Amino acid sequence: MKAIVKAVLLAALLAGGAGAQVAPPPRVDHHMHIFSPEGSRVLNLICKALGPGGCPPQRSNAPATGEDVVEALDAAGIGRGVLLSGGYFFGSPEIADQAIDVAKGMRAENAFIVAEAAAHCGRLIPFISVAPSAASALDEIHYWGRKGGAAGLKLHLGSARFDFRDPVQTARLAALFKAAADEHLAIVIHMQTRRKDYGAQDAAIFLREVYPFARGVPVQIAHAAGGGGVDEGELAALGAFADAIARDPRGTKSLYFDLAMVPDLFANEGKIPATPAHVAALEAIMHRIGLNRFLLGSDYVLGLDLKAYFANARAALALSDADWRALAGNVAPYVKSATCKSSASKP
Ligand SMILES: [Zn+2]
Repeated sequence: MKAIVKAVLLAALLAGGAGAQVAPPPRVDHHMHIFSPEGSRVLNLICKALGPGGCPPQRSNAPATGEDVVEALDAAGIGRGVLLSGGYFFGSPEIADQAIDVAKGMRAENAFIVAEAAAHCGRLIPFISVAPSAASALDEIHYWGRKGGAAGLKLHLGSARFDFRDPVQTARLAALFKAAADEHLAIVIHMQTRRKDYGAQDAAIFLREVYPFARGVPVQIAHAAGGGGVDEGELAALGAFADAIARDPRGTKSLYFDLAMVPDLFANEGKIPATPAHVAALEAIMHRIGLNRFLLGSDYVLGLDLKAYFANARAALALSDADWRALAGNVAPYVKSATCKSSASKP
């Protein structure tokens, strides 16, 4: 397997011509999605309930497999991919009236992700996910902790209509972080909520009331604390993280940020141009935080051309070649330590 990765990386390098000029592909895509047939069906129900504009039409909701992901990685010369489960779809508030068995659906979708990753041992790193409000959320985390095979837990607060300003919801989130830490699962969190005034205040609540419960397991803030693209709320939240990291670098040591669909959303053909001022502000904060905490990711769904995606990301970020090389070489600690069960590695 390693030899194949090396050969692909070498081929990508040679195809690019003069070595120094070539922007290297990321070593790892830290944010990717596939859906089982049932996960795809439920995602379509959510999009339908959300109505026009609720789900970007350029993003595929189609079922896909680990094989599709490995092919996409190979075509772009990328070594490994982090597969995030859509298990939380099943507890989505949009479909709460549709008699969906949340516990069963979440379990099956998580099992699908873990099995697809295990079938491509070493290439794909699986994260289970839970809907924060689901009654079975804590059980689900502990189940995978006991069973093994998952590297982390994905949470999507926007989809959950979560609100940091509600202490009951925030305590619930802290309990999920504690459970993940108890099971040594890393955490990827889409923390942007649907509040119009989402920003620094929410990041401050997160840092004070939730993050400490991670107790050192890596915490990856998805989309650089936004939801794709760059906006004022995201910059304010990321700025609050920068302040916290400057105040206490050791206490925030396990915090990372992924750049999936940042700075200008690019899913298949869909693209929201970010203003040069917003991109400049984003880069200033990235440098304050330190590029070593930023992880490249694509938000892959079936059909996304990763080579085109990362070429666009490279162009959209006005970073130097050296800075891009640094970003492309970053690998989250949970990827470095990931192992896979060879017994489960049959497709
Ligand atoms: Zn995503």
